[in-house]
Amino acid sequence: MTTQSAFDLQTYYSGTVPEKLAVARKLYTRHAVRLTASPLLKEELELLRHHSLALGGHMQSMELGRVCTHCATQDNGGCCSAYMAGNTDALLLLINIFLGIQVQCRNFEDENCCFLGERGCLFLVKPIFCLNYNCKNILDNAESLSLKNLYQLAATVLSQQTKVESLLLATISDHNRSNKQVKQPTRHNIP
Ligand code: SF4
Ligand code: SF4
Repeated sequence: MTTQSAFDLQTYYSGTVPEKLAVARKLYTRHAVRLTASPLLKEELELLRHHSLALGGHMQSMELGRVCTHCATQDNGGCCSAYMAGNTDALLLLINIFLGIQVQCRNFEDENCCFLGERGCLFLVKPIFCLNYNCKNILDNAESLSLKNLYQLAATVLSQQTKVESLLLATISDHNRSNKQVKQPTRHNIP
């Protein structure tokens, strides 16, 4: 038998991209007030923002934006394919919404990832696969110290991302559990 929490987890991590986005929006509507009132979650989210911006800054210093933009214009270039959008999950989308990102699917009609905007990936916090992916082109052309820093910064983001995700899951599950507790029936004295 599938327990309620196993069912919830399945809902957060599976389904099509529009389904995951719908789940993330529903979670936000249902839990935003409670979650944003948590000083701990606020603090951890801000730390995640800080680490993600530090990683983004380093990627910029390596000129990865320019390299990837050029690559994406070539035949069969670019790795942000439509298939890759499936690496997202509802909690990752929820985290980005909490960080103020306007999360929306661009379209499903071309071969690119639907979260790829004109200025690159729209997420501040990316799916784990995307976060860790460096193609041969990047690996062959980067200086070893830059790459080392890139790996370290990505690992720091990933660790903080996991922490925030666990916090979100725990808070949402606690709330769902307490809401589902069966109320004791009121006893009426028989006259
Ligand atoms: S990571 Fe590599 S394959 Fe992907 S867009 Fe950048 S240069 Fe191209
Ligand atoms: S980096 Fe962003 S745009 Fe590229 S595949 Fe991953 S989610 Fe999509």
